[in-house]
Amino acid sequence: MKWTATALLLLALLGRGESLEVDVASISKCSVACTELALALRDKVSLPQNSTYELEDFQYWSNQQSSQRPTCRVTPSCAEDVSLTLTILKANNCQFAVKSGGHASFAGASNIDGAVTIDLRNLNELVVSESKTEVSVGAGMVWSSVYLELDARNLSVVGGRSGAIGVGGLTLGGGISFFSGRYGWACDNVNNYEVVFADGSIHDVNEKSFPDLYFALRGGGNNFGIVTRFDLASFEQGKMLGGQTLYTADNMPALNTALYNFNINHYKDPYGAVILAYVYVPAEGIFLASVDLEYGKPESNPAILANFTAIPSIETTARITNLTDLTIELNSTQPSGFRETFWVFMVHNDVQILTDIQALFASQIPAIANASGLLPALVMQPISTAITSHFTSNGGNALGITAADGALLLINISIAWTDIADDDRIMEFAANFISSGVALAKSRNLAHRYIYQNYAAAPQDVFTGYGPINKARLQAIHQKYDPTNVFTKLQPGYFKIN
Ligand SMILES: Cc1cc2nc3c(=O)[nH]c(=O)nc-3n(C[C@H](O)[C@H](O)[C@H](O)COP(=O)(O)OP(=O)(O)OC[C@H]3O[C@@H](n4cnc5c(N)ncnc54)[C@H](O)[C@@H]3O)c2cc1C
Repeated sequence: MKWTATALLLLALLGRGESLEVDVASISKCSVACTELALALRDKVSLPQNSTYELEDFQYWSNQQSSQRPTCRVTPSCAEDVSLTLTILKANNCQFAVKSGGHASFAGASNIDGAVTIDLRNLNELVVSESKTEVSVGAGMVWSSVYLELDARNLSVVGGRSGAIGVGGLTLGGGISFFSGRYGWACDNVNNYEVVFADGSIHDVNEKSFPDLYFALRGGGNNFGIVTRFDLASFEQGKMLGGQTLYTADNMPALNTALYNFNINHYKDPYGAVILAYVYVPAEGIFLASVDLEYGKPESNPAILANFTAIPSIETTARITNLTDLTIELNSTQPSGFRETFWVFMVHNDVQILTDIQALFASQIPAIANASGLLPALVMQPISTAITSHFTSNGGNALGITAADGALLLINISIAWTDIADDDRIMEFAANFISSGVALAKSRNLAHRYIYQNYAAAPQDVFTGYGPINKARLQAIHQKYDPTNVFTKLQPGYFKIN
């Protein structure tokens, strides 16, 4: 193995060449890359056993991700650092993963065994434009930090609903927000991306500069470049209604009808937002319904949510508050430190399909009910035409959904557990549930091909779900901007376009 020109230059510059008496040939490609990175970026590189490295291991949501052990971690603080890192990794043919908020659940998505993890958390600058219509956000920020700064100025952006999610992963996969009825998903509200390309060059990507790549970044995930800054459209936003309401499971028929009606009426009042979860509580052997109800104005009883609030509940945290508070609350209900899996599919809006999918979930739960630390939830979210009518903003996103598809329902399962010994049967349960749910929807002509990247499990074919035209377009754009497959092979984790 040879030292790269970059490394030799750095060694000479730093006057440390003679002190490195190592058998270079015997060290792995990534060990060499880490040595070069440490020389170039000094304390922005951490190695196993180093306290920074060990601390960074805890910055992942799922245990499957935090148990990965990269050869080193790099924590760049500007786009030039990211570019230099990429150049060194490519020169050494060393694989890598990129992390923003670390909330992708499966191993390898944003952390990597025996290679290099680029942790963007120090790309954390937030700048509000003079006109207050745009907020530039570092790609390693988490949403609660963004909202904390913006709430103080009565401003907001379209972003995540759980505080610890990263700006990077959420926005590159789509990004469902409490404000999506008014503005669409997070990706529909990015004016400009600062991106490190596969060749290491740094560019502003927007509708004018690189229209094809701009399209691809709105749903294309980590296949096209490393985004170092997102310039987000911002708007005035004061306090709002929000909170979680708990119902007994016998209210599911009324809740399903309320969800159906919300979905078809959302365009009349796009300030509303709903997440309906059907949750199994193993300790009690019962199901409960947990509903997130939000309204983007400080009104206690908006008509668009009345079908939900009229149903008698066990308890509620509904209150007038700010967005930061709501995202901290949601975050506390989904803590890190567990084994986790997310799976997803989409159906057309229909009360009976909701009822039958919930029955399917309940009938299959006994297969995993005694897994330790189990917490399984079936989550249903309206993807109304109020939301999808914004998918054509700025030339259109890459997701392959249009308002002509009508009101849709995103169905996902989220399962937490503690014992690695239960992994296989939980993954089998999840895969079976998804395939039987999709089959059921197909048998009623209610299936929609879309698979939401941000909720998908590794075996799910996300990009086929975008439809053949968008998939082919994304593949061609990838070929143009990443002809040597830096982001699809050297960065092997997460969903790959080719
Ligand atoms: C508790 C919880 C709540 C959630 N709530 C919501 C929600 O309200 N709305 C919603 O839409 N989704 C939600 N999700 C899903 C979430 O959007 C995805 O898990 C998303 O991938 C997380 O982004 P992250 O940056 O935290 O993850 P990471 O694991 O850091 O990143 C995910 C993927 O994106 C890539 N990536 C991240 N940043 C960059 C970048 N700057 N450049 C290139 N590639 C990058 C990574 O390499 C990785 O492959 C939630 C998930 C969880 C676990």
